[in-house]
Amino acid sequence: MSDTNSRKISELVKKDGNNTCADCGLPNPEWASYNIGIFICTTCAAWHRSLGSHISKVKSLRLDKWDDEQVQMIETVGNVKAKEKYEKHIPPCYRVPQAGDPPVLLEQWIRAKYERQEFIFVEKQTYICNSMEGTLMKKARAEKKYFPRKFVIADNTLKYYVKENAKEPKATVQLSELNVCLAPSKMNQDNGLQLSFMTDGSTRHIYVHHESSETIILWYAAIRNIKLNWLMVAYPNASAEELVPYLTTDFVIEGWLSKTGPNERDAYRRRWFILDDLKDAYPRGEIFLGYKDNNYNIKEGVPRGCKDHDFSFSLITPDRTYVMSAPTSDERMRWMAAIRTVLERPLRPQDNQSKMALASKRKSSRNSRQSWFSFNKDQHV
Ligand SMILES: [Zn+2]
Repeated sequence: MSDTNSRKISELVKKDGNNTCADCGLPNPEWASYNIGIFICTTCAAWHRSLGSHISKVKSLRLDKWDDEQVQMIETVGNVKAKEKYEKHIPPCYRVPQAGDPPVLLEQWIRAKYERQEFIFVEKQTYICNSMEGTLMKKARAEKKYFPRKFVIADNTLKYYVKENAKEPKATVQLSELNVCLAPSKMNQDNGLQLSFMTDGSTRHIYVHHESSETIILWYAAIRNIKLNWLMVAYPNASAEELVPYLTTDFVIEGWLSKTGPNERDAYRRRWFILDDLKDAYPRGEIFLGYKDNNYNIKEGVPRGCKDHDFSFSLITPDRTYVMSAPTSDERMRWMAAIRTVLERPLRPQDNQSKMALASKRKSSRNSRQSWFSFNKDQHV
């Protein structure tokens, strides 16, 4: 009988919708939550287990025994129906994670869906707001220590105060000039958030974290929501979906890549690469990433006449072609996808480009679309 059930389960997971993780979209799920009625990947299964079995009952498709009732529960729901229920009201500002996104994003997405059921009961979406206030731990400029600071969002600005009762903020940033990015590996903080903005012509980063992952995602989503409201007023002809790509950018991807020069005899040298939304301090070298229509491209493999290497890829720019090699095939895919996203991102929503030309002229030097790909001999922040 359990053989019949195993066979049934292995048939069910092949169905459209069930064949990708219900929470992050990764293909070929190996786990399931049978009370919710969904098929999920190994990473999401771990988050489901942390919710507790009163919310999600997790089982391995292959290693666990399935009884008739459990098979029936998952058969009557499945990933498509569950999505209709648990993802019914996702606000446009909410960032739905994909496989490979920062763990805090995935954790809170799963908690939002099943524990708090935020996308069923919209009144639970506390980030749909125009102002916010709270304490975040802020990294001191010169040292590695974090100190509690009061942060306030109001009237489309973000301010922070050194003392709770201080009258004057230490910094005031227009939300339209602010980028927020989850940067756990760069900061070595699970709930690390990088706030970036231009001040006096140079880039400034503020690093904050909070012990609660829910709080960090609340700030992240609130900033995205307020920016979206502002953009919808500024560009009334654009839809929310068109404006969402401009809310935040997080091209903070970093790791070891081997890089070679333009000649066949040049050796591959290992360098620590950082793809960031804004230029970081003191890189040894940097590659400007423009827009694909201006002769920027990324391809697997090496150009003719260049020494090949495992998992190589070429970044083509109008000036020269850069040849790099990643440590694994997955890593290459991740880097290429991240770089491609930058190259494919136009300046403004396409349909509104001409109308926005005037505004973009005024703001062109401050536009953070242009991303930098920089490298160093050593890993450091
Ligand atoms: Zn998943």
